[in-house]
Amino acid sequence: MTNPWSSEVKFSDGKLSLCRISATDLAREFGTPTFFLDEEDFRSRATAWGYSLKDSFGENAGTVYYAAKSFICVEVARWIDQSGIGLDVCTGGELAVAIAAGFPPARMELHGNNKSVAEINQAVENGIGKIIIDSLYEIERIAAAAKACGVRQKVMLRLTPGIEAHTHEFISTAHEDVKFGFSIASGVAWQAIIAVHHHEDLELVGFHSHIGSQILDTEPFGEAADRLIALLARYRDEFGAELPELNLGGGYGISYLESDDPLSPNQAMFALAAAVTDSCKRNDLHIPKISIEPGRAIVGPSMFTLYEVGTVKEVVLDDGGTRNYISVDGGMSDNIRTSLYGAEYVGVIANRAASAALRQSRVVGKHCESGDIVIRDIQLPVDVVPGDFLAVPATGAYCRSMASNYNHVPRPPVVAVSNGKARVILRRETLSDLLSLDV
Ligand SMILES: *Cc1c(COP(=O)(O)O)cnc(C)c1O
Repeated sequence: MTNPWSSEVKFSDGKLSLCRISATDLAREFGTPTFFLDEEDFRSRATAWGYSLKDSFGENAGTVYYAAKSFICVEVARWIDQSGIGLDVCTGGELAVAIAAGFPPARMELHGNNKSVAEINQAVENGIGKIIIDSLYEIERIAAAAKACGVRQKVMLRLTPGIEAHTHEFISTAHEDVKFGFSIASGVAWQAIIAVHHHEDLELVGFHSHIGSQILDTEPFGEAADRLIALLARYRDEFGAELPELNLGGGYGISYLESDDPLSPNQAMFALAAAVTDSCKRNDLHIPKISIEPGRAIVGPSMFTLYEVGTVKEVVLDDGGTRNYISVDGGMSDNIRTSLYGAEYVGVIANRAASAALRQSRVVGKHCESGDIVIRDIQLPVDVVPGDFLAVPATGAYCRSMASNYNHVPRPPVVAVSNGKARVILRRETLSDLLSLDV
């Protein structure tokens, strides 16, 4: 049993509070739907990954890059900066947020399988620490930007190590069939290595891989590291020098359901260090600096979404049973993960003790789409009524960041709560925001 709620969420008499502020008070002050972000929980996760990397790798610890795509806004970029870790951005938009926050460019890296020339220029001009190269085309594009700025740009190569990681197992078939990176098996990776190695405007610092998401065990990371380290050895054999760094990506899972059993930062880093050390020994290599890119594992558990129930209807199912459809005031525009990936969530009535019998229920949104589901199957009390508040935990990652304006629904705000105080860090969209694009 794991707890999908952040550390400052408490329940008393069935009522949810965050840092001692009740869900009812939060809803009254900020409206619904709203994302509530437990600031201390977020900050301690960010620093925990930094510490665990250092503890496990010692002098070979590289950088923890927070994956901005999981959730970013100016204030959160400042927290990441204050926690001393790095930032991984993958578009000019994410980069612009980081720069607006005053994030030090040297501690940032740029990803993307199709970075525009404008994005590459923006990154190089701002002095970004590293660019992760994803295609042969990009080599010349980045080199041209570097030459124009008079710098030698540090780059890594994103490789597909032939590992496809799933939540509970990993398989190594169909692994080449992805849009990202250079395949090691086909030899394209080696072609890219040679092209970058000989480029005077680029400094190759190492290899990168990112093998998947919501991964709950250690083996796939060790396996990916091993394949990248074998390539480091080949590089050493060919060029007589060792590359200094490996970035082994993100993908560390979190608890969405009480049955999910995620790795702690210490468990994950300790196991990775063992695998890397072993592999380097076998290949007679120095241990390179190891960097990682957790997104979900930092922000995911730190937020919950608070909705208000608007309607409840009971339907009779084919098997004679019944189901309650509980409609909330958001839906697929603030959490697309259920309809996109079949993601599973839990949820609770947050404003009162709910002691009534449980009924098979489905939490749905307000959009004009049958697939607009927040929680497909959940047992909720039969006496849920309009006006109740429903809280869904673990919505920090890939919910607000993937939010849309479908049906012209304004996107919800993010409210940071810390030390008994709540403040808006990303405001709710308004109808005039929506109309502002119409020419
Ligand atoms: C998405 C992504 C991450 C973060 O993944 P999480 O599952 O949120 O940890 C890290 N690196 C790259 C390259 C990614 O695409």
